[in-house]
Amino acid sequence: MAFSMNDLSDETVFRRLACRPDFIDDAVISSAKLPARVTFKKLQSRIRRPLGQLHSLPLELLHEALPYLDIRSLWSLARTCRRGKIVVEALPMFRDLVKSVGYTFAILRDAKILGMHSLMKLHAVLHSDRCVSCGAYGCFIFLLSAERCCFECQVVNPSLCVISVPVAGDCFGLKKSQLKSLPIMWSIPGAYDLFKSKSRQLSMRLVSLKAAKDLAVKVHGSLDALESKFPLDPETRNVKIAMFETYRKAYSPPIASDPLTCPYWTASGLRNLAPPSAIFGGMGVMPFPCLYKGRIEHGQCCSGCWYLSRTTIQQNNHLWDLLIPAGCLNSAPGYCTAEEYLIKLSCRAWSHVGLVEHGRECPFAATFMSQPGHWDPI
Ligand SMILES: [Zn+2]
Ligand SMILES: [Zn+2]
Repeated sequence: MAFSMNDLSDETVFRRLACRPDFIDDAVISSAKLPARVTFKKLQSRIRRPLGQLHSLPLELLHEALPYLDIRSLWSLARTCRRGKIVVEALPMFRDLVKSVGYTFAILRDAKILGMHSLMKLHAVLHSDRCVSCGAYGCFIFLLSAERCCFECQVVNPSLCVISVPVAGDCFGLKKSQLKSLPIMWSIPGAYDLFKSKSRQLSMRLVSLKAAKDLAVKVHGSLDALESKFPLDPETRNVKIAMFETYRKAYSPPIASDPLTCPYWTASGLRNLAPPSAIFGGMGVMPFPCLYKGRIEHGQCCSGCWYLSRTTIQQNNHLWDLLIPAGCLNSAPGYCTAEEYLIKLSCRAWSHVGLVEHGRECPFAATFMSQPGHWDPI
């Protein structure tokens, strides 16, 4: 009898299709070895002194006001005295963050951006599930702007990429004093890029590629003016000059564009080089689950898409045409190639409900699930 997805319950569809390949988490800041709980080191919890001017305020009012503070301020408040710790730990938004993404505090501390975002902002991101760039489900956060994003967009969208401060200065002709106006984070030492191929043990200052580019336009008047003042020698085809050209011409996908069909590379003809995210890719992004109806959702990929897109790339078989939308098979600059499309398709994460809905429609899910035995994603 033919296998039918309609015979399966939602839970069965989810359980049999859900996979979270290491591949996508290996490319971003790792949260694996970080504490999931917050500890206020050197906490002055035994000190019974009052909470200063805040002491007389009712708890309800504190709960209303304190979420507007950034994490560093809350941290300081919690370490002031026992009542401060009790008040901060009792904040519903704080409790949600600790329960769902407790490692976030350690990463913000190590990146030296504890004071960059308010508790309210981070909590709003926790309760959202849409990628700021494409509107699809996103299971990561871009730290410099505290915006939720998906795996594909953090690769293709320059506004979700970071570059080092010295590179931003050299590439966009910006002085140190000008660069100071940009939000800056310190990188977290570790291995980055797909398959952990890029080891970054030294911490460096990072800025958003898009923010640096926008600042260059503001300082120089336009990108053409930047080009006139700081021309890139076309005869010098070394990696540094090529990357600068990529950064300057980085293609910015419009909001709501589909990252699956966005090209990795710029429209500048530098197709054989790297995407804008290649050098510092993933160093400004970390996993950030959603809190949906009290359930923590980390985002799961579809095993059918993952398996069949990979085997299609390897075998170049007949599924190639079925998988890729018309118009994508284009090797010209500015277009997404078939291989890029398939790689990104295999990395797309879904919410719990989204994966079930996708799984019932996915042309590869039934094929995957009807195979004998189980294929384990890497
Ligand atoms: Zn996206
Ligand atoms: Zn699928």
